[in-house]
Amino acid sequence: MDLLACPICKSFPLQLIVFNEVNMSSSDSNIKSCDEYCSYYGKKMVDLKNEGASPDCKSCLQIQIVNGIITCQNCDRWYPIIEEIPHMLPDELRNEKEDKAFLIKNKEKIPQAILGRGRPFNLSHPITE
Ligand SMILES: [Zn+2]
Ligand SMILES: [Zn+2]
Repeated sequence: MDLLACPICKSFPLQLIVFNEVNMSSSDSNIKSCDEYCSYYGKKMVDLKNEGASPDCKSCLQIQIVNGIITCQNCDRWYPIIEEIPHMLPDELRNEKEDKAFLIKNKEKIPQAILGRGRPFNLSHPITE
């Protein structure tokens, strides 16, 4: 799962936090490794190779993320992954009520930085209007 750059500030790579995942035990031998950045290990492929690690992307590409969050450390934006779909929407298309409900529901697993100052919504002010 090679992640896209942040749609707002174009920063790369984004950080991925998985809440829950399922293992797709696939017999597909054509699974390639992650290209530039391995989201599962949270490192660039070059760095992994420099460390002498041989990342087992065969297994990491079989992990299907069910729910999680993608965060951008550059602009503090966050994007939910809900039922396997990453929602990488610009601020104006986001639903404040749903997004806050997502933060509250998963707040145990979301970094304090996002809960406190994540954009476009966070939990530092219950109602921002
Ligand atoms: Zn990988
Ligand atoms: Zn960003």
